[in-house]
Amino acid sequence: MAEEEQVLTVGDLDLSFCDELAAQPGGEHIRRCFACGTCAAGCPITEVDPNYNPRKIIRQVLFGLRQEVLSSPLIWYCLVCYRCYARCPQKVNFTDVMRALRYLAVKGRYASSDTLKRLEELDRFTQVLRHDLVEYGFTKRAELLEAFRGKVEERLGNLKP
Ligand code: SF4
Ligand code: SF4
Repeated sequence: MAEEEQVLTVGDLDLSFCDELAAQPGGEHIRRCFACGTCAAGCPITEVDPNYNPRKIIRQVLFGLRQEVLSSPLIWYCLVCYRCYARCPQKVNFTDVMRALRYLAVKGRYASSDTLKRLEELDRFTQVLRHDLVEYGFTKRAELLEAFRGKVEERLGNLKP
């Protein structure tokens, strides 16, 4: 059976969403976006997951899709690398827009403080893994690879329900 299409009506749009975002530090210039897509073209996350698209997220904010944006895991994917900001011809600063969206998601209880804590731990963990892989790439010391495997397995064990 075909999946039922989600239909949006004007009543679903929250026109105060964009104003609230624009009032946050870094969100001031969101209305400058002319949807050129340069940000998405250079984003390392879009490269691995085409569902993550800065241009589309900006359109959703401008259209007032508060619930859809703030409850989505997509807003937690950003690496905060500022590539999109560096390339944006309109200097929109999507990186800080993303920070502001995360702030609004926590403030509006779309994401729990527990989720936030787990994401912070995950960021620390991936930094450790990256460090270890770079070190292994240079030294080729077998014990580093073993330690790496151990850390990944321990982490996967912790994730089990
Ligand atoms: S690069 Fe800038 S102007 Fe172009 S879509 Fe992205 S945010 Fe909008
Ligand atoms: S800051 Fe985020 S959205 Fe911008 S290019 Fe980096 S990962 Fe992509």
